[in-house]
Amino acid sequence: MAQRAWQKLVPRQRSHVLHAVADRLVEQRQLLARLEAADTGKPMSVALNDIDVSVDAFRFMAGALRATSSVAAGEYEADHFSVIVREPLGVVGAITPWNFPLVMAAQKIATILAAGNSIVLKPSEITPLTTIKFAELVADLLPPGLLNVVTGLGNVVGAAIAAHPDIALVSVTGSTASGRAVARIAADSVKRVHLELGGKAPVIVFADADIERVADTLSVASFYNSGQDCSAACRVLVHESVADQLVRALVDRVNDISVGEPGAGEDIQLGPVVSEAHFRRVLDHLDRAYAEGARAAVGGSAYPGAGFFIQPTVLVDVPAGAACTREEIFGPVLTVETFSSDEEAIERANSVELGLSASVWTRDGSRGDAAAAQLDAGTVWVNCHGVIPSEMPWGGVKSSGYGRDMSMYGLDDYSRTKHLMRYVGR
Ligand code: NAD
Repeated sequence: MAQRAWQKLVPRQRSHVLHAVADRLVEQRQLLARLEAADTGKPMSVALNDIDVSVDAFRFMAGALRATSSVAAGEYEADHFSVIVREPLGVVGAITPWNFPLVMAAQKIATILAAGNSIVLKPSEITPLTTIKFAELVADLLPPGLLNVVTGLGNVVGAAIAAHPDIALVSVTGSTASGRAVARIAADSVKRVHLELGGKAPVIVFADADIERVADTLSVASFYNSGQDCSAACRVLVHESVADQLVRALVDRVNDISVGEPGAGEDIQLGPVVSEAHFRRVLDHLDRAYAEGARAAVGGSAYPGAGFFIQPTVLVDVPAGAACTREEIFGPVLTVETFSSDEEAIERANSVELGLSASVWTRDGSRGDAAAAQLDAGTVWVNCHGVIPSEMPWGGVKSSGYGRDMSMYGLDDYSRTKHLMRYVGR
């Protein structure tokens, strides 16, 4: 019911509501950031940025929905006038992860509502607080029943969303295993599926790259949010002639990273990982890497004492094909492998199952273009990493999933087209 009334609003009216939601987020920025930091362990600087990114999702969609139009209208058969109408899907289910809880929820809610749908959203059972608080904070702005937050475990509540016959599409941001499970369940009701899954971003550093700039960028892009980021620059492939120089520069930068709990000060850059289970998982990855021959050039283990703090780590002497170069570690760990030719770099970058994002570093524009064209990834950065504007589509290829969040492509993904043809002969 709520969805039908919402769908009938003209774009300008829906846009005003989304702007009001953005305004409310701005008013409650400190409260939401403190809650996010307490729930996840992330530094306040990261939590505040999360709120800003969430605001931008609503602002972008509030504008974008007013700019939607059909691509074709005309006579494609004599005396038959065709027009393509964009319609909402109805009720959309959304399932979100724990690494950027509010950002992930905001991007889904903004796009799904902008397209005229209602939403049933399940946050991660590990970090549900900001999503619940958000729903409470905007309750007076949205018609009752339009935004519905349900909590619980993935294999119970998430699976129920995937199975529900009245839900038209289920959108998951999470691990590849969860995406697969949801897609399997959704098949029974022939439900559309939208999957934003894991990432293992390769960073290809050619011999002509600006090594200091690479190191500066990776000191943030590899360790931001404790590396618990699907776009984290976690796997360096560097030309053998500049590998030592890059590792030295990385070690220098990593030694300067300030580590602490969220309340320890504004200069804290790296917090703990999200939970004890995840802490153990990251340390297991490190043990396996050492067993396969890797060595830590800096960091390499947990910090002594309480909390789930893991040292920012750069692993070197990593053999090609080692598990740490293929599997998502999702912690503050960067692996460094070397290559000797451009072809080898591209082939090894593409050799993993995941294909969400990648970066290429070179001073040669045509070399950068050629590498970008050959990489299997939804986003390729050249001489930068991890920059994600709301205007651009975000999503992966291969086991990183399909579907695009944000941008006009996101609006398309949460809509359906209808061809309407009228006979106009006499
Ligand atoms: P996760 O897969 O464990 O959980 C994600 C969500 O899926 C949670 O809400 C969980 O309850 C639910 N879920 C789990 N099993 C389910 C099932 N069988 N049926 C239905 N729902 C189920 O992921 P996580 O550990 O919370 O987050 C980390 C993962 O998310 C990483 O793999 C990361 O790369 C990925 N991620 C991807 C993007 C992207 O944009 N592609 C963004 C952020 C995180």
